[in-house]
Amino acid sequence: QSLSVSVPGRSRLPFVKQPRLDILRDISLTIGAGEILAMVGESGSGKSTFGKALVGLMKPSAGQLVLDGEILPDWSQKSFRRMRQATALLFQDPVTSFDPRQRIASIIAEPRHIQGVGSTRLDAIAEMAERAGLSRHLLARFPHGLSGGQARRAAVARALSVVPKLIVADEPTAGLDLSVQAGVLNLFLDIRDEYRTAFLIITHNLAVARHVSDRIAIMYLGQIVETGPTRSIFTAPRHPYTAALLASEPVPDPARRRTEPPVIGEVPSLANRPQGCEFHPRCRFAQERCRREAPAETRPAPDHVVRCHFPLAPP
Ligand code: SF4
Ligand code: MG
Repeated sequence: QSLSVSVPGRSRLPFVKQPRLDILRDISLTIGAGEILAMVGESGSGKSTFGKALVGLMKPSAGQLVLDGEILPDWSQKSFRRMRQATALLFQDPVTSFDPRQRIASIIAEPRHIQGVGSTRLDAIAEMAERAGLSRHLLARFPHGLSGGQARRAAVARALSVVPKLIVADEPTAGLDLSVQAGVLNLFLDIRDEYRTAFLIITHNLAVARHVSDRIAIMYLGQIVETGPTRSIFTAPRHPYTAALLASEPVPDPARRRTEPPVIGEVPSLANRPQGCEFHPRCRFAQERCRREAPAETRPAPDHVVRCHFPLAPP
């Protein structure tokens, strides 16, 4: 059921077989049609890798993807193609993913060309662009002629041109002004309502997650340590890491009480994972058992999962 991804590790010694580094381990996650799930974690936690595995750009070393009840277990070319057709990835920096010599109209039309679905006539493409809030006079431009916000909208229009079942958006608001950020996130909400598209929003920004998501998964060193409805994650986090992340978020409301100190120290490297609970060197609730034994998942509520020996009590 669960997905694991590993890549060859780096070894400087000649003739030494390269060890494989586990990036993601035992991730089990379901995203329903029309659901927006935010995956939150610090950089290097494996979020982007998970996104790539979901859209068929990276081959898991173990596990399976289930799409619409259909199991894609074999990682054959055919399964990858199915996954790529049903999903779309919005890259962190859309402009670098666009061909600089192509006009925006053909960039948006490209998935239709490749998959042989839908019309690639200019008025059909303009309609997709306008649904994504990109006005049609921009279609004749080249990628460098768009602003950051316009480029995001072009990427969304491109993704929408083949109506994917799942859109994975990697840091969709990075580098955008606050007002433009809200526009992009509200566009996701509109698309979800109109097409019942599922979204995985990858972000390190809790405010972004709060704005768009129905559910949040918290990632630490390639594992999901807590998953729950967005409101419960913000009001009653159960994992000490989640609580610490919330505490380190800039507080827009000065009346909000700060109860947790921010997370201490750096994220350990994937090549040097701590024993037991991997969060223990940074956890202020760590006990002897945490250093020895990796915690299993428990469910404090039917829709809430936490991976900790000593989950926090709700306030
Ligand atoms: Fe902290 Fe222990 Fe829970 Fe890990 S298992 S998060 S170290 S209390
Ligand atoms: Mg990333």
